[in-house]
Amino acid sequence: MQPLLDQHGRIATDLRVSLTDRCNLRCTYCMPPEGLDWLPSEDQLTDDEVVRLIGVAVRQLGVDEVRFTGGEPLVRRGLVDIVRRVRALDPGVEMSITTNALGLARTAHALAEAGLSRANVSLDTVRSETFHQITRRDRFTDVVEGLAAAEAAGLGPVKVNAVLLRGVNDDQAPELLTWCLERGYHLRFIEQMPLDAQHGWDRDAMVTADEILASLSAAFRLSPAAEPRGSAPAELFLVDGGPATVGVIASVTRPFCGDCDRVRLTADGQVRNCLFARSESDLRVAMRAGADDEELAERWRVAMWGKLPGHGIDDPSFLQPDRPMSAIGG
Ligand code: SAM
Ligand code: SF4
Repeated sequence: MQPLLDQHGRIATDLRVSLTDRCNLRCTYCMPPEGLDWLPSEDQLTDDEVVRLIGVAVRQLGVDEVRFTGGEPLVRRGLVDIVRRVRALDPGVEMSITTNALGLARTAHALAEAGLSRANVSLDTVRSETFHQITRRDRFTDVVEGLAAAEAAGLGPVKVNAVLLRGVNDDQAPELLTWCLERGYHLRFIEQMPLDAQHGWDRDAMVTADEILASLSAAFRLSPAAEPRGSAPAELFLVDGGPATVGVIASVTRPFCGDCDRVRLTADGQVRNCLFARSESDLRVAMRAGADDEELAERWRVAMWGKLPGHGIDDPSFLQPDRPMSAIGG
């Protein structure tokens, strides 16, 4: 087995699969209110094609962790079936989902039964009116129910991912942490990245990891967690001596590209070796032209080899990728 090695010595074992670019929320830092020009359906991989490519990754390229994302992965009709088929391919692969949790209350049990291991839920506030302001939809209660259903279905430890926005919810970090601690959810804050469809990201407006930690430290005693971070993007802190933790994913101010073990597959079958990559490798066209699994694996290896050492957000020459986060799979 030849793994997904790049020329800087990193090996990708964690595959993020975007199942759709569509979404039922409109988070202001991700999409405009009217949504986007969605992928034409003929360009979207079929369920069979998704399962085949994941099979190539798992069997021929050494991928041992698969995360379904989007867009909103729960709006993909074949999701439960895809999970079941990937589980059948490999009983050992770790399979999780990153979701806004709308509708998770209905599907959590079926997903767990099909073989999903864990759920990561995105939730930036525990105030209903702030939720409406950020997501442009009045659906806070559905998320709360989805989270509870995920925990009850055994998709834990349930992680909560939050983005703080200046002047909107940047004063709510301790409140969100308290809410998650009470329910046993593992909270992680993510710095806002220049990946919004509107290209409106402004470094000066971004709430930094230092600010997040200062705000939390006013309410909690934080100390560095002992466990080694490895390739995990979140820096973990014990809360009030532990065992509970809180994480900060400082992609912009404390980049961790040197330890990255991730690779991405978009809903239209493009390999992206980095969130910020400016080029992609088209496995859909190759697959539909008749490429066999070994040829697909080799194209994938070539795509990975050229991964850049870092995202370069601080370089004067940095250019935001054409694809927004919702079409890459965060
Ligand atoms: N719809 C699902 C969800 O929201 O969890 C999956 C896709 S969403 C693009 C994945 C994650 O990316 C979410 O946690 C979201 O908050 C985060 N995200 C979206 N745009 C972002 C940005 N510009 N900077 C940082 N995180 C972002
Ligand atoms: Fe949808 Fe997730 Fe983007 Fe929010 S962050 S608009 S839930 S894809």
